[in-house]
Formats: sequence, structure tokens, C-alpha cells
Amino acid sequence: MFLEGKRALVTGSTSGIGLAIARAMAAEGAELVLNGFGEAGEIAALCNELSARHVAADLTSAAGAEQLMDGAGPVDILVNNAGMQHVAPVEEFPPERWDAIIALNLSATFHTARLAVPHMKAAGWGRILCTASAHSLTASPYKSAYVAAKHGLTGLVKVLALELAQDDITANCISPAYVWTPLVEAQIPDTMKSRGMSREQVMNDVLLARQPTRKFVQPEEVAALALFLCRDEAQNITGANYTIDGGWTAE
Ligand code: NAD
Repeated sequence: MFLEGKRALVTGSTSGIGLAIARAMAAEGAELVLNGFGEAGEIAALCNELSARHVAADLTSAAGAEQLMDGAGPVDILVNNAGMQHVAPVEEFPPERWDAIIALNLSATFHTARLAVPHMKAAGWGRILCTASAHSLTASPYKSAYVAAKHGLTGLVKVLALELAQDDITANCISPAYVWTPLVEAQIPDTMKSRGMSREQVMNDVLLARQPTRKFVQPEEVAALALFLCRDEAQNITGANYTIDGGWTAE
């Protein structure tokens, strides 16, 4: 159990990819701090399953990120994973959705990292991971805020990597293509509307069309890479953006 004695905070870990990462890190002995929305009973059951704490904080504001870091205490592993999506043509894109997506998918990483780094430096070890996306490297129509935020995240992670290079703290992005989670399921109705398509057409002609393997990525595959990046063997991997995208960005 190579993460014994380490505290890991995974944002957006009540669901999907974040939950898979939290489960994988807990299985390696990390003390988990969960974050994200959900039904109280389900969150309590997750805390029980993983011997974890949950800190409720809305990460669309700096104050929310500060509340999270206060509640979590010093962390050795910070996984910035909470994210959301909105699908609409740019001229119809609600400005408040733009602001919220940039705040959660990009700025929250700045806020949590700036508060996590002092302890990591003092401890002489740290891992900062971000769930970016294939959309950190490529674009799709109707996803202006998401694509801008995810591209921004890769730049921020490169800066963190350089600033922290001599402190044994690494910073990396993991960029999956479509992973079957509630986030993907929720964008199907808007994509049907934006593109005038049926549900099946959205699944096959929009989502999986970009993935040469024609398979959704599994949350556990993302978690396995996150775990590897926490190993000592990964100490020289920093500033990177690893794709798990079935070949999407190779095209
Ligand atoms: P999900 O909807 O299953 O989970 C999102 C998590 O974020 C939940 O725990 C939710 O409660 C939390 N969250 C939402 N808004 C929040 C807020 N304001 N403050 C704090 N927590 C909040 O989504 P997912 O698919 O597991 O996505 C996780 C990450 O992976 C996101 O950053 C997403 O952009 C990225 N990603 C997902 C896919 C995919 O296909 N599912 C692909 C590439 C990247």
C-alpha cells in the first residue's frame, strides 16, 4: 500500500472519474478527503466505504476553494477533477455558464494548488493531478467554455511543474476522451438540440465518432494512471498531459 501516510484530496469525487480515483487511492492506503455534490445518505455511505471525510464546497468561487482547503487540512496529493459542461452555439452560450465553467474547470485548480503547495513544499513531496480532457488538445463545436478551460489547465499545470520542479512536487494532466459518466449522459439532450440529432446519432456520430477504438473510456482506467503518477517511479514525470483517448488526438 504505497500511499499509506499520505492524505489525498480529490475534488468532484462523489461521482464518475473522481470517485474511481478516490477508490483507487484509498485502496493503496491514502487517507481520502472527498468533495462534490450528492445526496447526503449516498455521500455518508461513500465516506464509510472509503474511511474518508467529505468536505462540501462549491468550487465555482475562490471562497469555496478556500473553504475546501480549510476543511481538508494539509494534503499530499491534490486531484483537481471537479468539472462541468455546457453545450450551446457561441452566440447562444449563456455568459453565466461561461463564467461558472471557467471558474470550476480552470480557476479552482489555481485556488486549490496555491493553498496546497506550502504544505507540499514543507513535506518535501507532493502530487498535483488534473483531470483535463481530449478537449485540452483539440476542440469541438458548441463547447467554447469547456475547451477554453481545459486548454488553460494544461498551461497552468506546466507552470506549476516548472515552479515546483526542485521541491519533489509534480503536476500533470490526464486527458481522457469520452468516459461514460453522468457528465457525458447529461450533455446528450443539448447536443441533440444543437445538432438536430437523435440520441443514437449523438452517441455514435458525435461521441464515439472521435474515438478510433469506438469504446468509452472506463473511469478505472483514468484512476490507474492517476495512481501511477503518484508513485516514486513517476517523480520525473511533470508538466505532462497524458491522453487516454482511444487514439482521438492521434488523428
Ligand atoms: P461527473 O458529473 O460524474 O462528476 C463531476 C463531479 O464534480 C461530481 O462529484 C460533482 O458533484 C462535482 N461537482 C460539480 N460541480 C461542482 C462544484 N461547483 N463544486 C464542487 N464539485 C462539483 O463527471 P465526470 O465525467 O466524472 O467528470 C470529472 C472530470 O473529468 C471533469 O473535470 C470532466 O471535465 C473530466 N472529463 C470527463 C470526461 C467524460 O467523458 N466523462 C472526459 C474528459 C474529461
